[in-house]
Amino acid sequence: MIFKEHVRWEFLKPEEFLVRLAAAPVVYLPMGLCEPHGHVAPFGLDTIKADWLCDEAAARFGGIVAPTMAYHTHETGYHAPWLREVMGDINPRLCALPPHIVLETLLYQFRAFRNAGFRAAVVISGHHGSQEDLRMVAEAFASEFPIQHFVRTDPELVAGEFTGDHAGRYELSQLLAIRPDLVSLDRAHRVESDPLWRFAQNPDVLEASAEEGRAILKASLDAIGSAVNGFAMPAEEPGFIAMEHLEPLWQRILRRQDKWKTKSP
Ligand SMILES: [Zn+2]
Repeated sequence: MIFKEHVRWEFLKPEEFLVRLAAAPVVYLPMGLCEPHGHVAPFGLDTIKADWLCDEAAARFGGIVAPTMAYHTHETGYHAPWLREVMGDINPRLCALPPHIVLETLLYQFRAFRNAGFRAAVVISGHHGSQEDLRMVAEAFASEFPIQHFVRTDPELVAGEFTGDHAGRYELSQLLAIRPDLVSLDRAHRVESDPLWRFAQNPDVLEASAEEGRAILKASLDAIGSAVNGFAMPAEEPGFIAMEHLEPLWQRILRRQDKWKTKSP
């Protein structure tokens, strides 16, 4: 991944960090994971999309990109039967975490963002399916520690214009626009003969095009831009949140885990 280093928290020195923070106190959190994306695309396609969208958004609309969260929920909730359907018994070489770890981590990521001085957070997940739980955590945090938030998966950004998929026309179009060097469309036919079977590849993958990918990415960035422009930043300087102040909040979220979408199919 070629990061836009001038917008990346981990590449910034304090002087430049504070200049960017003062100009736009917005942080972007890219979320993705490694999971099967067919024979044509790398495991990290979801991460690559999220990184690209966050870097571009920070460069265009201001703000700073937080360290990427490259592990995500899978194997539970709606993903469990889906995985069986597209992978059968084949080892998916997946880097999944259980929902309670991802959601608790997100809660503490929000704490880190607010403590660093951010007044708004944009979370872009390249992995679809757990967004309602991610938003539940954002809302729970913001109800106690005010921060503006916008939490979306990439297909949600373009809903009504484009239809999201998994390792098909939609996702591969984006990758052809972002990193064409990582795409091997000539391997699309391997689903019939390969011991890895379809490896979660969608049958319409050969309809992908860089042109469509650029249109999807432009629409996605427009949606992020509207959200950033619509943030009503809290005016007061937020106070420091100690780690132990989040524990009761996390316990409240945990007590409602029967409602988590990532838990129930
Ligand atoms: Zn994907």
